[in-house]
Amino acid sequence: MLYDILIAGGGVAGLTAAMYAGRAGLTALVVERLFPGGQAAVTYEIENYPGLQAMSGPELAVAFEQHARKFGAVITNAEINSVELEGKVKLFKTSAGDFEGKTVIITTGARPRLLEIKGEQELTGHGVSYCATCDGAFYKGKIVAVIGGGNTAVEDALFLARMCDTVHLIHRRDRFRADKSLSDKLADFDNIKLMMNSIPEYIQGQEHVTGLAVQNKNTAEKHVIDVDGVFIAVGTVPNSSLFSDCLATEDGYIVTDKHMAASIPGIFAAGDIRNTPLRQVITAAADGAVAAYSASRYVLETGN
Ligand code: NAP
Repeated sequence: MLYDILIAGGGVAGLTAAMYAGRAGLTALVVERLFPGGQAAVTYEIENYPGLQAMSGPELAVAFEQHARKFGAVITNAEINSVELEGKVKLFKTSAGDFEGKTVIITTGARPRLLEIKGEQELTGHGVSYCATCDGAFYKGKIVAVIGGGNTAVEDALFLARMCDTVHLIHRRDRFRADKSLSDKLADFDNIKLMMNSIPEYIQGQEHVTGLAVQNKNTAEKHVIDVDGVFIAVGTVPNSSLFSDCLATEDGYIVTDKHMAASIPGIFAAGDIRNTPLRQVITAAADGAVAAYSASRYVLETGN
């Protein structure tokens, strides 16, 4: 079968694109290697999606999936091994066979870079978080650490300082990578404690985070700070390895225009995988809608 749209990735952007495609009368196949919902499905609670004051991430993911299926989306569980994007017919070679489409929407997302220290993996979801805007509200009045020195880490520290008792901002160098205009704002908050030249060594805790061990790079002094939460913001890694050889990318993220069009005609990208300033459920959903609209225009205009 030749689908109108092949969608790589079944997170929020992919499922929204599939739902919009179905409503436009197009056939869409979503290829997802894990489970529908992407990062939303592994988020404890989402309380910044307008209209839903609080909903569990897994519940929201199921709602997105059911909505896409209601309008005819086919969702297949498979690993995409390679893609052919150039020809009139686009091809996904997957662990469940080959699939052909007239257009492609790439929504394979990005994942937070791991710090790879002891305790990180075991305590993820139990005090270790990679998303301050998602999880910060759970730490009202508590003591947290933010690790990193880029814009995300500094923004996270500023965001958390408004609700937490104390925010330890831990950076491995003596200067922030973040924009100066942003890092200058740190001085406005008495409850942000800077720990520069500091390397996180391990995260402590049994069922929940209780502490973070840090070593000062200059003095080699080590100590454990008592914290209830550790927010890791050491960059993100786009899931773009299948596409980065043939599409224009920026730091690994797929470059799109406002129509979500990538650098090959008929190929679109949406959500966290594209070069976007905000990576949240609402922006992924909006991108998915625009990408599906653009893909449907492409199918109509090329007469494919
Ligand atoms: P980033 O700019 O890559 O910064 C990552 C930070 O984590 C760096 O300070 C880096 O230290 C540190 N780091 C990396 N690996 C580490 C490790 N193993 N141990 C300890 N520290 C480690 O990532 P980001 O802050 O997520 O930002 C990603 C992109 O989005 C950037 O281009 C950023 O400008 C952009 N962004 C923009 C805004 C905004 O404009 N408002 C907001 C957020 C993000 P070093 O500095 O020593 O390398």
